Amino acid sequence: MTRYDVAVIGGGPAGVQAAVSARNAYPTKTIVLIRKEQIALIPCGIPYVIHSLSSVDDDILPDAMLEKNGIDLIIGEVMGRTGNDLILSGGTEIRFERLVVAAGSTPVKPKIPGIEKDGVHLVKKDYEYLKAFRQSSKNAHHVLVVGGGYIGVEMADEFLKAGKAVTLVEMQPALLRNAMDPEFGDVVQDELEGRGAEVITGGRVEEFTGDGSVAGVTLAGGRSINADFVVVSVGFTPNLSLAERLGVDVRKDYGVIVDEYMRTSQDGIFAAGDCATKFNCYTGECARVMLASSAMAQGRLAGANLYEIKVVKSFAGTLGAFATKVGDVALGVVGLTEQQAQDMGMHYVVGTTKGVDRHPRKLPNASIVHMKLLYARYSHTLLGAQMCGGDSVGEQINTLGVIIQNKMTDMEIDTLQIGTHPLLTSSPLGFPIINATVDSIMKWYKAVEN
Ligand SMILES: Cc1cc2nc3c(=O)[nH]c(=O)nc-3n(C[C@H](O)[C@H](O)[C@H](O)COP(=O)(O)OP(=O)(O)OC[C@H]3O[C@@H](n4cnc5c(N)ncnc54)[C@H](O)[C@@H]3O)c2cc1C
Repeated sequence: MTRYDVAVIGGGPAGVQAAVSARNAYPTKTIVLIRKEQIALIPCGIPYVIHSLSSVDDDILPDAMLEKNGIDLIIGEVMGRTGNDLILSGGTEIRFERLVVAAGSTPVKPKIPGIEKDGVHLVKKDYEYLKAFRQSSKNAHHVLVVGGGYIGVEMADEFLKAGKAVTLVEMQPALLRNAMDPEFGDVVQDELEGRGAEVITGGRVEEFTGDGSVAGVTLAGGRSINADFVVVSVGFTPNLSLAERLGVDVRKDYGVIVDEYMRTSQDGIFAAGDCATKFNCYTGECARVMLASSAMAQGRLAGANLYEIKVVKSFAGTLGAFATKVGDVALGVVGLTEQQAQDMGMHYVVGTTKGVDRHPRKLPNASIVHMKLLYARYSHTLLGAQMCGGDSVGEQINTLGVIIQNKMTDMEIDTLQIGTHPLLTSSPLGFPIINATVDSIMKWYKAVEN
């Protein structure tokens, strides 16, 4: 029996972050991180092992951060617990005072006939699997990606860069439909099609065809498409079987039930990341969001509050902040989309702008940025932001996340003091966050006057 003060299950972003935060908050405690895989990966980098990175090894999450922080690492699978003793496969027992469950998520495997055929792949966060995936993709001629969420479009883009013929099939009427409003999904579709992909929206794969190895798919309606390499990316589901064996309450499909401090139904046991429930930051309802942005915030809170509530600030609810890049177009979203606001029955005003992210616009690396902001009609707080354009999108969307989390109003944003520089930002007169906000204020003024 080995004893630790703190045990963390999971070597993904949430687990590592929880362990490091625990070290920062409780310098004298002994901490162990237990994970299944010998080699951990940076999950967000997985699409880029196809082409942009020269090997899967370039996407390894280094263990140096654990070593530097005096966190022990045990490779093994946790099977369950007896009281405060974790039982690992092989029989090893680890005693803990506090436990963080960060067991993550696994890809959804839809029940489509033929999915077991050779050449049909899921997107697994697994080093050996991805090495074989990368290797066999090199011989592929026609790649078919099922699923037009952000992972599917990133995969399609990488296969295009690798010179493959690519078809992307998405069931919904637009790409990125669960994350962004359709006008942004349409930009992604144009970008992929412009690079030679065939994009089919509103299409449903009914069967993977071929004898033994995949040879293509049949869509609802009867159309057949040839493909010798298929990637199925239709979502992820939280890993809850371990949590159930540990005796903590879970909500099926959503995660381990946690409070604002990531505490589960069992004293001394916390959960964070993809396996933990998230709450919509406006309605408090359970949200099916699995992103590194939420996982890291939850991991930080769990680690910091293991023995007492040190960080009095609780988890504000998930903002769903993320950014991606397809071809030359970067996209970002945080907070509510217009569709989500409508579904929730919220009253809102939309402000939009189109501007350039350098000034004057003829400078190198200048790109057009399209921003859409959603303001609450009566409280005037920012509800959500979406944008597309050049690489500046990545950081601008984070600024908007801070604004939303701090519940700033349109009038406060209108008077923000923004630092600008020709080579780095939009012009002070054309700053997208301000201009989209002013557009929203003007609509509200007009509505009040009428
Ligand atoms: C291809 C891809 C691209 C992505 N891109 C982005 C992006 O650009 N931006 C973004 O915000 N998010 C992105 N995400 C989502 C993000 O990666 C996840 O939200 C994040 O990985 C969640 O971290 P986690 O630590 O909760 O879980 P995981 O990363 O799933 O880690 C779970 C860990 O738990 C371990 N584990 C599970 N069960 C046991 C057990 N019984 N015993 C021991 N160990 C166990 C696993 O081995 C693993 O180490 C992407 C995801 C994928 C798959």
